[in-house]
Amino acid sequence: NGIPRPKLVHTIDMEEKQSLEKVMLHARRSFVTNKTKHYDFRKKQLKSLLKFFEDENDELCRSVYKDLKKPTSEWTVHEFAQVTGEVRKMLSNLRTWMSGDVVPKDIVNFFDDVKIVPEPYGVVLVMGTWNFPVFSLFMPLIGAIAAGNCVVIKPSEHAPATARAIASLLPKYIDSECYPVYLGGVEETSELLKQKFDYIFFTGSPSIGKLVHQAASQNLTPVTLELGGKSPVYIDNTANLKLAAKRIMWGKTQNCGQICVAPDYVLCSKEVQDKFLKYAQAALHQFYGDNVRENGDFGRIINQHHFHRLTGLLRDQKVAIGGPSDPKDHFVHPTIVTDVHPDDAIMQEEIFGPILPIVTVESYEEAINFINQREKPLALYVFTGCKKVKKAFLRETSSGAVLINDVLMHSVADGLPFGGVGNSGIGAYHGKHTFDTFSHKKAVMERGTSMLIDKIDSIRYPPYNNTKTKL
Ligand code: NAD
Repeated sequence: NGIPRPKLVHTIDMEEKQSLEKVMLHARRSFVTNKTKHYDFRKKQLKSLLKFFEDENDELCRSVYKDLKKPTSEWTVHEFAQVTGEVRKMLSNLRTWMSGDVVPKDIVNFFDDVKIVPEPYGVVLVMGTWNFPVFSLFMPLIGAIAAGNCVVIKPSEHAPATARAIASLLPKYIDSECYPVYLGGVEETSELLKQKFDYIFFTGSPSIGKLVHQAASQNLTPVTLELGGKSPVYIDNTANLKLAAKRIMWGKTQNCGQICVAPDYVLCSKEVQDKFLKYAQAALHQFYGDNVRENGDFGRIINQHHFHRLTGLLRDQKVAIGGPSDPKDHFVHPTIVTDVHPDDAIMQEEIFGPILPIVTVESYEEAINFINQREKPLALYVFTGCKKVKKAFLRETSSGAVLINDVLMHSVADGLPFGGVGNSGIGAYHGKHTFDTFSHKKAVMERGTSMLIDKIDSIRYPPYNNTKTKL
């Protein structure tokens, strides 16, 4: 959009930074001691992590507020509760998950031990984002520790207060040589990506995801790429429109719309649009009253760059609801724009802010076609009461997830993998899926040595004869 990126958004001093050589050396040296592979060690680290969240809750909440003006309730529900819940889940399942899986046996292996043993990859890299600067960093980190890896932790430089708080506080709780925090921006990340890791877990945009993938391929390092994109919403006239509007506007205003699975745009008929606007206005009023700006429950855009990018997307658009913005504190009012053309700038990039465009379509088939002509989304939201429509979206579209009659909630559903497909990402995580992500599934077999087994085995040894081949 022609708006230059700020040269350096982060303000991390050189003396706060650990040297990369030291970070890599310590992590490598720690991994080969095998200590991270022991159950007791992993358990102790996870317990200390839980203590870190509990003891430092206020400091982390303050830092996240400094970076994003994130309301305390959003911090508590979207970040604190999620990461503490995840540690508890790992702790209560650790022994079972570490023990691996026994596989079904056929006649040839009847007397053998055959199992799948999860082993840690080694030294892994976890890179977080600024929008959920604690959640996006710690959700993968918790699983990586549980799986027995050493982890180089890279917080986002665009949430500098949180990055600094993590770098200074975390080493007091977990082993700082096994789990070093490395601070920095583009330059430092580029250097980091030149290192040989055994696994890379990246959360960020598809364009940087491609760079990470490219760098990882130099060492054939496996990756998880948790990316973004435009997550569409389809609404038809059989949906509960009042509830749909409330849920969609909630999803669009949480974290000021800066969520990878935020509803990005709406596809609906003109008739549905008119009713939706009325209900959306009412929902916003219910959430924030007469003055959104003064309401402490509504956050702010992370920085000037993203503020100008967002207000630029509103240029030449027909604003149906909202519109005001203020560069002084990066305030962007929740805004709905209508009569949007698919070729408009607002439809070309992930919005990542509290702006919702509506594109009108005549039918669900047209909506499916619209979605399928674009990159595969991270999430797809369908608001309908019609079985046929639900089935059609499930069968005929591809996305990281589909959620019917709500937004965002699938990302916290216990047991569901969270991740994209195609341009929205590679791999998925949360809970057991994270433990599996950070574990190589090693095939292990132990054979019996009795004469009986050797007799059954005799078929494989030369000399071959007709009786053996007939069998
Ligand atoms: P980004 O891809 O712009 O930056 C991510 C990190 O990459 C930065 O912190 C920086 O350290 C590094 N980086 C940037 N440019 C680089 C370069 N040229 N070379 C090497 N490293 C570089 O993403 P962002 O702005 O931090 O986050 C927003 C994006 O993340 C959105 O697309 C959003 O949808 C996505 N996201 C995805 C999830 C998910 O779980 N799928 C969660 C949160 C955010």
